[in-house]
Amino acid sequence: MRFLPAVVPPPGLGSEAWWFLYHGDRLLVETRGEAAGIPFWSDPAGRGVRTVRAQYLGTLDGRPCFSGELDGPAAPEGAGFRPLRSLLGILPDELFSLAGRAFQVVDWDRTHQYCGICGMRTEPVEGERAKGCARCGIQFFPRVAPAVIVAVVRDRKILLAQARRFPSAFYSVLAGFVEPGETFEECVRREVREEVGIEVTNLRYFGSQPWPFPHQLMVGFTAEHAGGDLAIEEKEIIRAGWFDADEIARLEVPRHGTIARRLIEWFLDRKE
Ligand SMILES: [Zn+2]
Repeated sequence: MRFLPAVVPPPGLGSEAWWFLYHGDRLLVETRGEAAGIPFWSDPAGRGVRTVRAQYLGTLDGRPCFSGELDGPAAPEGAGFRPLRSLLGILPDELFSLAGRAFQVVDWDRTHQYCGICGMRTEPVEGERAKGCARCGIQFFPRVAPAVIVAVVRDRKILLAQARRFPSAFYSVLAGFVEPGETFEECVRREVREEVGIEVTNLRYFGSQPWPFPHQLMVGFTAEHAGGDLAIEEKEIIRAGWFDADEIARLEVPRHGTIARRLIEWFLDRKE
């Protein structure tokens, strides 16, 4: 599937479209048993749901995609609301990622109705994903918060930690938000030092993943231990340790579809 982003719908679009419709942080999906699908409708109003605001996102394989915010939690027959996070691995990857994009656009639209400086109503900026204040001349773009995520390796083991923010007792690689003025590399070194007290070297870019909870961009790195013994920052981390492949097999780790899981699988696939 090929997605081409755009802000303004071109003329002559077909009437049927993919609709990514949210009520709060829950997405409207067509349900059949455990399966969930994104509605492909000509008009949400024809299905009895009303959008407060809608945004054009672009085309998926030539078909238009829209996001929108619903005025209430009522779902039509054969559909229901699900938290976006619960659809990871249920929706095809391309549709999950579009649903994440849609959530960020809907959230930005909803929270930037007024200028943060003077309080005047904002107006859409023509041809851009932006809103402007005519009085202050300032523009507001969707927020993206970069965060680093890093697999630190020592000999044949990887550093995994159980963080207090995790909903369950699973282990993952370390992650943290980038601070103003910081490079990704500086952020990796600082986070690792702050959370487990060690130094790292040989940082390599691994890949990235938008993570719409609510608007993160996870930037992945691999690194090697350079010095120091583990000393845990107890406010954020419950425990941390070095794990080999056999030990990882007995742990609860992040699910498929996350960059955290891909980093752990990268470690397991290493040949040296
Ligand atoms: Zn203003």
